[in-house]
Amino acid sequence: MERIIFEKPDINKLKKDFTLVDMHFHTDYSIDSFNNIKDSLEICKKLGIGLAITDHNEIKGAEKAIKNNKNMLIIPGMEITSIEGIHTIFYFYNIEEATLFYNKVIKKNKIKDFFVWINMRFDELITSAKDFNCVVCIPHPFATGWTGLSNNIKIDKKTLKKIDIIEIINSYNSRKSNLLAVEWANKTNKAISGGSDGHFLNALGTTLTCNESNDLDNFMKLIIKNKSKVVGIEDGLYKRITNTVKKEYKVIKNTDKNLKMSHLIHEIKSLRNIRMKDCFGNKRINFKSPGFFSH
Ligand SMILES: [Zn+2]
Repeated sequence: MERIIFEKPDINKLKKDFTLVDMHFHTDYSIDSFNNIKDSLEICKKLGIGLAITDHNEIKGAEKAIKNNKNMLIIPGMEITSIEGIHTIFYFYNIEEATLFYNKVIKKNKIKDFFVWINMRFDELITSAKDFNCVVCIPHPFATGWTGLSNNIKIDKKTLKKIDIIEIINSYNSRKSNLLAVEWANKTNKAISGGSDGHFLNALGTTLTCNESNDLDNFMKLIIKNKSKVVGIEDGLYKRITNTVKKEYKVIKNTDKNLKMSHLIHEIKSLRNIRMKDCFGNKRINFKSPGFFSH
């Protein structure tokens, strides 16, 4: 089975053999997304795909979606920003455990009125997750902004062990970043996943994780066993730019002054990391491993 395919998923063909899930998606409970849960799930039903709800530092969207749609394959998750700016996705086998993790670990570490990141270091965060029945995934590790793990820390063996999955196709990232993630997953022999990182409805299903399970438990188990494939395609430059503008608009529209301020700091930190050449796809792929790999 070819495991990593960079192309627009042919959903009708794929669903004959596999269960398909977009493993990275935001609802309007995220600071920078407008996605209404009902509309999002309606589209998933039409497409015949499952969905992992991975809101920024929030569980309410996943809770609401699962409560009202018991018959759909919805994986509860959350995408948490550590104090260094690193994004980590935590997936759970049921919503109760996800809520417990949120209440016991995330909620109390949210900085009051300053919610763009939480007051925990990356290593503290993934260590505390190990007390819960959850799966730790590093999304877009080579994202050009502040949120990519590779921009922030060097990773040691002990920390690497606590990571279960590396997201190797993220539709909102460049081909170059995604290929570096593929290379990292291969080198470290980690399980793989992919998702749209959709903040808008038009992203749904642009990257899918596929395997032969038919329920949440087995879907996650097959991912961890590395028996999944990922099929997906990155957004074109136009879509990436317009979606970025729309994301910023949502944050600006938010009336909370502190929230706006923390987001602004976040964006400035990101801009410092962005090299413009990274925005233009795979023309200049440089496979020299960053120092990051050698640890
Ligand atoms: Zn995301």
